[in-house]
Amino acid sequence: MLAFADARQVVIREAQPHAQGRPTVAVPLATALGLILAQEVVADREYPPFHRSTRDGYAVRASEAGPGVSLRCVGEIKAGDTVSQALEPGACLQIMTGAAVPQGADAVVMVEFTKRVGEAVTFERVPTSGQNVVAQGSEAHAASVALRPGTRLGYAELAVAAQVGATVLQCYKKPRVAILSTGDEVVPVSETPGPFRIRNSNAVSLAAQVQLAGGEPLPLGNALDRVDDLSAKIEEGLREDILVLSGGVSMGKYDLVESVLKGLGAEFFFDAVAMRPGKPTVFGRRGKTLVFGLPGNPVSTMVTFQLFVIPAIDVVGGTRARPLPLLEAALAEPLQANPALTHFLPARLDWDSIAPRVRALRWQGSGDISALAHANCFVVVPADRPSIAAGQRISVLPRFDVL
Ligand code: AMP
Ligand code: MG
Repeated sequence: MLAFADARQVVIREAQPHAQGRPTVAVPLATALGLILAQEVVADREYPPFHRSTRDGYAVRASEAGPGVSLRCVGEIKAGDTVSQALEPGACLQIMTGAAVPQGADAVVMVEFTKRVGEAVTFERVPTSGQNVVAQGSEAHAASVALRPGTRLGYAELAVAAQVGATVLQCYKKPRVAILSTGDEVVPVSETPGPFRIRNSNAVSLAAQVQLAGGEPLPLGNALDRVDDLSAKIEEGLREDILVLSGGVSMGKYDLVESVLKGLGAEFFFDAVAMRPGKPTVFGRRGKTLVFGLPGNPVSTMVTFQLFVIPAIDVVGGTRARPLPLLEAALAEPLQANPALTHFLPARLDWDSIAPRVRALRWQGSGDISALAHANCFVVVPADRPSIAAGQRISVLPRFDVL
């Protein structure tokens, strides 16, 4: 059975060919957050466009200023001022943050380290050449690549695009992710379930996870545990880039998802992972569609989505799989888990001090949705460490929507 990290690598590898030839769309900067860039963004001029002062102070020749020296202040330069005159020898210019350093000057002395009486400025320190000045072109040269294709557009990347005037960005279309839950007991959330039925919470959490991960969720509803209904609805999902199923992949008599997928021509890369919850997770492909069969217990569905479906959305969507954001924290309370499988237990990570501490929450197993709603992470208990004392360090997987 594959370890979860190896299963993830299988997903990343098998998703690569599905990234080819993705359609793109032109998106205004204001709505491009979270999309994957499909073009190069090029610097339209030098950055900074001029030698920029990073402090409020005095522009000087570094060789002229120093303790006991007094230079005559011959004017001031504000941010945005056009600067055309060179600094004459023996003089200095008052200058503000973001303003252009004039020809001749090669340093800015912070106002805090100067004294001014009338036009005479004296200095407390010896400046070095280049101090508090960012040279023209030192951040980026004109026509250099500022953002590469495959870059995820976060706020800093959007700021780069804004800086160089790229107001419309060619981005990859989001991967289309069909979501199909299964189970005779499952009813739409808009209905009142009978006494032995349950509402379709997985369809809701999966759509939210797809959206957060950067995919376009396409809810297909719920299939009954019958070959005909499953086949028809799975066929529908097999038209999309990715199909995510929940339920019907365990060993029960009515767990038919894998055999129906096989009947529809799917091949499988794995159908079990050495983890709990999440052991019966299935990953395969039919034609151009990647298929995930996630176990139906809500916590299993959520954690296996984070581990396995997110990297597929990343790669199919035109970028590198984001790394699993594992942290380390000290256990606040001792922990006992069943050996043999890597366990993912709902937990709470807190930073009361500099050192993060984590505490596994009481739960009733992988059907316990409310335990996970109180959790902000999972502790990852390795198979070979079934019992761990308080204070020991342990691996933590943050929930990707809350931390
Ligand atoms: P299964 O993986 O189909 O054996 O389902 C495991 C457990 O998860 C059962 O208790 C199901 O009732 C429950 N379950 C399955 N599908 C859903 C769903 N869409 N929403 C909430 N719970 C579900
Ligand atoms: Mg079921």
